Amino acid sequence: MTATDTQVLLDAVRAFVDDELRPHAEEFDRDEHLPDHLLKRVGELGLWAPFLTGVPMVTVGQIHEEIGRGCSSLRSLLTVHGMASWSVRHWGDDAQRERWLPRLTDGSLLGAFALTGPEGGSDPSVSATTAEREGDGWILNGRKKWITGGQVAGLYLLFARTGDALTAFLVPRDTPGVTVEPLHGILGTRASMLAEVVLDDVRLGDDAVLGPLGWATGTVMTSALDFGRFSVASGSVGIIQACLDATVAYTTNRTTSEGPLFERQLVRQKISDMVTGLRTSRLLCREAGRLKDAEDPAAIMANWIAKYHASTTAAACASAAVQLHGAAGCSPEHPVARLYRDAKVMEIIEGSTELQQITIAEQAYQEVTR
Ligand SMILES: Cc1cc2nc3c(=O)[nH]c(=O)nc-3n(C[C@H](O)[C@H](O)[C@H](O)COP(=O)(O)OP(=O)(O)OC[C@H]3O[C@@H](n4cnc5c(N)ncnc54)[C@H](O)[C@@H]3O)c2cc1C
Repeated sequence: MTATDTQVLLDAVRAFVDDELRPHAEEFDRDEHLPDHLLKRVGELGLWAPFLTGVPMVTVGQIHEEIGRGCSSLRSLLTVHGMASWSVRHWGDDAQRERWLPRLTDGSLLGAFALTGPEGGSDPSVSATTAEREGDGWILNGRKKWITGGQVAGLYLLFARTGDALTAFLVPRDTPGVTVEPLHGILGTRASMLAEVVLDDVRLGDDAVLGPLGWATGTVMTSALDFGRFSVASGSVGIIQACLDATVAYTTNRTTSEGPLFERQLVRQKISDMVTGLRTSRLLCREAGRLKDAEDPAAIMANWIAKYHASTTAAACASAAVQLHGAAGCSPEHPVARLYRDAKVMEIIEGSTELQQITIAEQAYQEVTR
């Protein structure tokens, strides 16, 4: 991709966000739904899985940042669709790629990522969803919870226990025995159409197994989550940008008995923290993207750090943004209330803040004692 191609693509994404996404984000959030025509536009712009058509990861990160600036619910759909598409591309055999990738590329088929069950998400090894061998196929039973895009996805990248270990399966939504139960009233990313996916004697052939049998941990799951973390980190940068934009505009126009808010030093301190947090988060995401493009193993840790920093910074900036809006920040008339709820979710998904702290510190100890 030339520098000009990249700029044309990013300009188109920015225009889409400003004209078609951001003005309707509160409505989508209230309705807990993203309209079909919007999802179609994402496909027309080639944004569902741009890495499948040669767009470098650093640019994918910039796209997810822009979408995150407009609407974290849509960015969440891009995240899980990307995780499924990335996995088929990297772990699928020729037949699986031929069968699934064309429709995942143009978004006529949406993918979702189904790892977490009601039994817990931080430790996937506790998965209660099982896949048992029967003849030359598999029977899956269990329940997956909090599945982003679960209401609209046509293909689930789903993890189930095969014996003592986990295996990844590609489960078409229309397989008999699959039931989708929509989830409502979630704190943030409310329009990301979450669902529980219930599996009741779901019969699949060997062609549904993605990657090595019994080795999903460390292969399919790890690389999908790595993609997801990069997307969420980048989307968090977009949230910070949106918080900064909204707060600068509001404090410029809002006047108290002492004059305009923007003249107050305590207000400027919060703004300067947002600007600095935006810059550091963006730089960490770009570094992770560049290392990914270079297929450098250091990309994995750079990505953990980027996600940890960007998501915690987004939560802090969104809190400051609501604070500086006062009561107005608690109303749906200003986007900061939505940004505040969405930012909190970024600290939980694709590896919670605590898991990132554990992983980053563990790496430090390994490096020192090596
Ligand atoms: C909006 C939303 C969308 C989601 N989308 C998806 C999706 O598309 N697909 C999917 O599979 N899942 C999805 N999830 C689930 C998400 O991945 C899990 O919520 C997450 O992995 C945490 O798991 P849990 O909620 O079961 O928390 P638990 O594992 O029960 O953990 C609870 C708390 O304890 C902390 N904790 C856990 N272990 C430790 C430890 N060893 N040390 C210190 N603290 C610890 C955690 O950080 C967390 O704060 C989504 C969740 C939300 C809220």
